[in-house]
This record gives sequence, structure tokens and C-alpha cells, in this order.
Amino acid sequence: MTTRAMIDVGRKCNAKCPFCYYHHLGDLSKQEYKSVDELTLDIVSAKKRGCDYIDFSGGEPMLHPDIANLIAIVNKNGMRCCVITNATCGETILLKCIDYGVDDFLISMHGFSETHDKIMGIKNARDRQINFIDVLNANKISFRVNYVMSSINQNDIVSFSDFIASTIKPRIVNFINFNPHGQWGCDTVKSQKIISDLFIVENQLNAAIPILEAKGIGVNVRYYPMCRINPEYYRCICNDMHVMYDPYEWDNGVPHTEDDYKKWAISTSKSVEWKDIPCRDCTLLSACGGINRAVNCHTFGQYPEAIRGGSIHHWYQYRAQNILTLTKRGAHGL
Ligand code: SF4
Repeated sequence: MTTRAMIDVGRKCNAKCPFCYYHHLGDLSKQEYKSVDELTLDIVSAKKRGCDYIDFSGGEPMLHPDIANLIAIVNKNGMRCCVITNATCGETILLKCIDYGVDDFLISMHGFSETHDKIMGIKNARDRQINFIDVLNANKISFRVNYVMSSINQNDIVSFSDFIASTIKPRIVNFINFNPHGQWGCDTVKSQKIISDLFIVENQLNAAIPILEAKGIGVNVRYYPMCRINPEYYRCICNDMHVMYDPYEWDNGVPHTEDDYKKWAISTSKSVEWKDIPCRDCTLLSACGGINRAVNCHTFGQYPEAIRGGSIHHWYQYRAQNILTLTKRGAHGL
């Protein structure tokens, strides 16, 4: 069970990623950040719920004018924190965050420079990220990577994994399948343009995962149908049933009891994941949860393929084997 909370600093962002959850708000540079008082209240509430770790998300948290102070507030409350970032901020603010005790970063990297810069809509976004990572390495600060899989970068998964496995070497890579949540659900045409072709992604993931794992890099594949990956990598799939049991994910404000976590997992899976044909006839249904409903509708049901035979003895049986990604930060010397 995760003991992390996500603190949302506000939607303001300097990037324009076409698959952003908040794409429908328009130009995110015109959004506002939340005040330090409001965010302090969120941090203290998380602590009271039993959280010991905070993930700052947004928007772009590294451009919040008080991000370093917020990191100090987390530490003062006896917790540690990570910042989820596009890593394009300047070195001065990064060094200040390090000085104020940030523990970890989760950096969005969506392919090679040309693709990545185009997705972010920021000139030299990748160059800025490489500078950012150089500073992290010089200060021995760990980092992980988020790669949102979409039609724009679906063919780069193997080559980009090969590149990062031999160069920047993050601790963990999360491949996040673009799913049309929220207002995306009403935007069928655009969603269809961005949703990745899972037949392509399947081959890419099957080749990329062993490349990363051979270098000791953990791999998560989030919100993705198990039938579209080699059985050897079922353990990498982290869907709605598993997410609250990933030590790097968030408690979603739920009370920290086994019962409440399980209820959240079941109800989220029920509302977000497809349970009808062919999933209802699939042996893996309890372990997979089903393909994202909106993706299945927008792609006319072409991707899920019921797996027959065998049986599942526990919904967490595959996930429990993904040891490179399930060690809680702070334990075992991490
Ligand atoms: S058919 Fe449905 S339940 Fe079975 S693995 Fe595919 S998405 Fe998951």
C-alpha cells in the first residue's frame, strides 16, 4: 500500500503537450499556481492521513515561485518529496531545491530531441533536460522517467529505451499509455489521433523492457491491456487495481486501511476499465482489470483479445514479481 500523497501546485505550465490531461483548459501558461498557505494545508493533511512522502505535480511545479519553500515545509513535517517535472527550469532554482532537501525527480521524456521538443512545444526542451540531469548527477540526486505513449512517439520506444539505458540511466521508467480521461472523453476525433496503435506498442514494449531491465532499470507500463504484451512482462502492467499498491503512486486521499484501498481499487477499475466482451471471457480479467473504456470505444474494440486457459490465483500475482519497481523509497538503502 502506498503511503505517498500527490500535491497539485496548480495547472500553470510552460509546455503544450498535446496529450496533457488538462489540454482542454487551453494555454496553460495563463493558469494560476496555488498559494503556499493552501499547499501547506494539503501537505499537513497528507501527513495526518499517514503519508510519509509527497509528489509535487501540476502544471509544472519547478516554476512555482515557492517550490523550494514547499520542499522545506515537507521536510519540516518529517516527510520526503519528489517533483514531477518537464525539467526545463534553470539551474538556479534546481540548485535551490536540492539545497532545500528534494529527494527525487520524475522527469517527462517523450522520445528523442526532435519529437520531444515538438511534443512539449518548448525550444531546446531536451537540451535543458540534459543540463538538469547533469546537475542531478553532480549532486547525487536520483531520478525516474515518465514516457507517455501516443501515436506521435509509438515507434521510438525501443530506440529511446536503448539510448537512456546507456546514457542517463534513470532508476525507473514509466511507460504511460495515453488514455482519454476527463474532457478528453468528449473529444473523440482528437483522442483517436493521439491514442497509440497498440499493435505497434506491443512489439516496441516487448523489445524495450529487456533492454532497460538488463541495466537494472525498473519498468512500469501503466493503464495498458495485459493481452497486448508478452506474458513475461505481465508483471510490469500497473492498472487501476494495482496503482494504490505501487509505492511510487499516490493514496488519492483515501484513509490508509486495507479495506479502503481495496474499495478504491475496485470502484476505479469498475468505472474506468472495460469489463464486457472480450474481457469478461478472459482468464486475466482479475489481474488486468480490462482495457481503458474510452480507448476501447475510440478504437472500436480492436485491441483486447481474451486469453483462454489457466487461472489466476490472485489479482496481484504478476505485479508482485516486478521487484525493481516495488521497493519503497527509504527502505533497503534507497
Ligand atoms: S482481454 Fe481484457 S481483461 Fe483480458 S488481458 Fe485483454 S484487456 Fe485485459
